[in-house]
Amino acid sequence: MQDHICDRYNSWWEYDAQGIPLCRVCDKCRAHKLKQYRPEILRGYSQDDVDEPIEEEG
Ligand SMILES: [Zn+2]
Repeated sequence: MQDHICDRYNSWWEYDAQGIPLCRVCDKCRAHKLKQYRPEILRGYSQDDVDEPIEEEG
């Protein structure tokens, strides 16, 4: 997937909830690329989410 280049005519920019462009994707790599972003980035979050204590794993 590192060498993957999106089809020039069948790809588009994905934006986060703030309208900030994240990366260019196509059907083939969309899921893979969006996996690296936190869900809150993609769907947006409220101030309540931000104030929540961070749980540490382990
Ligand atoms: Zn692609």
